Amino acid sequence: MPDGNQLIACHECDLLQHEVALPEGGVARCRRCGGLLYRSHPRGLERALAYTLGALVLFVISNTFPIVGLEVNGDLIQATLLGTVSMLYRDGMWLVAALLLFTTVLAPLVHLLAMLYVLLPLQFGALPRSPELVVRVLTEVKHWGMVEVFVLGVLVSLVKLADLAKIVPGVALWSFGGLMILFTAASIAFDPRQIWLKMEHAS
Ligand SMILES: [Zn+2]
Repeated sequence: MPDGNQLIACHECDLLQHEVALPEGGVARCRRCGGLLYRSHPRGLERALAYTLGALVLFVISNTFPIVGLEVNGDLIQATLLGTVSMLYRDGMWLVAALLLFTTVLAPLVHLLAMLYVLLPLQFGALPRSPELVVRVLTEVKHWGMVEVFVLGVLVSLVKLADLAKIVPGVALWSFGGLMILFTAASIAFDPRQIWLKMEHAS
């Protein structure tokens, strides 16, 4: 929390200096070498909220619609993410099922909801309750979301399967791609420094 005592080191010359609150669109530079310390993106939190809401919509689509269909002997077999999890579980691969469920469904969902929990009240000038706890949850959970790894894994398997069966990309495959992009954009725009600053103004 930048309370005026928070120190930041310059990336260029390693000079330690106190963090200061910036106006929107402002830039903090090193007092010795002029190197960029940090910046406050204009309307950063509004963008974070928009990306988060968009990502939540794509999250629902990604988990509802089939990721891929395989045409084998004229039959179309479709697979959704949750369907795959329950199939793995039934086949006795419960550890793989749990990992897949945690890294591609639960962790991203908690991450998105936690960002929404902080951003939505701030948008309307209100304070979220126990923000420190939520930010701690966010820091823990963000290492576990592996949507990118999952999408990459699906794409590699599809290329390998292409010889064996006709592949029909499902709606969820495209929305997973979009989710990956929006998720990254939301995480980048979710700037804790700007959030604490906005909370000080709202309180
Ligand atoms: Zn410097």
